[in-house]
Amino acid sequence: SAGKDPSVEQQLTVALRIRPINEAELEENAAIIAHRVGDQMVVLMDPSEDPDDILRANRSREKTFIFDMVFDHKATQEDVYVSTTKNLVEGVISGYNATIFAYGPTGAGKTYTMLGTDCDPGIYIRTLNDLFKAIEATSDNMDYTVSMSYLEIYNEVIRDLLNPYSGFLDLREDARGNIQIAGITEVSTTNAQEIMQLLTKGNKERTQEPTAANKTSSRSHAVLQVTVKQKSRVKNINEEVRVGRLFMVDLAGSERAAQTQNRGKRMKEGAHINRSLLALGNCISALSEKGGSRAQYVNFRDSKLTRLLKDSLGGNSRTVMIAHISPASIYFEESRTTLIYAYRAKNI
Ligand code: ADP
Ligand code: MG
Repeated sequence: SAGKDPSVEQQLTVALRIRPINEAELEENAAIIAHRVGDQMVVLMDPSEDPDDILRANRSREKTFIFDMVFDHKATQEDVYVSTTKNLVEGVISGYNATIFAYGPTGAGKTYTMLGTDCDPGIYIRTLNDLFKAIEATSDNMDYTVSMSYLEIYNEVIRDLLNPYSGFLDLREDARGNIQIAGITEVSTTNAQEIMQLLTKGNKERTQEPTAANKTSSRSHAVLQVTVKQKSRVKNINEEVRVGRLFMVDLAGSERAAQTQNRGKRMKEGAHINRSLLALGNCISALSEKGGSRAQYVNFRDSKLTRLLKDSLGGNSRTVMIAHISPASIYFEESRTTLIYAYRAKNI
């Protein structure tokens, strides 16, 4: 847009992915109410309003939202990866941090985008593959070590998804002020198939419990953390030159606690999830301010998630949020609130 230096890459990108309508939705006679228009626009129709009431209909039946990019059922895993994430890889091996979030209600396609399936893997594995390729192509003078860990944040508690017996883990700050997770498993394989197996297995360890709606909802944030350390080979100095960190986050379902009829434990979970998502929304909003001028007012300490990501939001870091919705009329309310959250992240 006008007034921006085109040489400076965008710090925050907000994308939307509309998944295909599914059998269950069609069986409930759901109509498709979310339509992609061009590369950046989505039109959401309110199914509760009477289309024959022309005066009202013209005013409020359709809401449009603009994002940096909009994908619909035609977009492949490769399309989404290439447009949102692929160009972060060079930055990470040069020592910059980046974070990719999948946001949206349960069932909208977050895990499909991030983890994907064996036949059609998502952003996690595509990113790691490109990272290894890029390192191979530039490792003449540099030694790189890549390590990854996979964790969940559930009820403001951190668990190692690669070692479910490790108990609760603590966040610590090291001497240089970097956030570390004490005792987390760090894996350094470059075998894509092995990684996919680890992540799929880890994903099964995520805390997912049925709610009153009797569908499995993800109440935890899953975080794949990739660290790239660089050492100079030429000068025989055994010192880290640069460290780049990449976080890929499959967020907890954004449906509001009020929408499920749960009490007690579930309500507490809802409050924690909202705390993390709210804190995250505040941090991301601050990033979208020019030059991050409001960053000083952002309290990263507000939640475990934002504490963990402190050094990867703002500054020289790049952030990508991919919001997810179903196109079906029965999820109008979830879709509407998701679009508003994502739109605000970019435009406050
Ligand atoms: P979430 O993680 O947001 O709860 P999932 O990623 O588990 O949602 O998606 C719900 C279901 O829809 C899964 O069966 C998934 O495979 C399917 N799905 C989601 N997005 C897509 C897509 N873009 N194309 C095909 N199937 C999808
Ligand atoms: Mg999921």
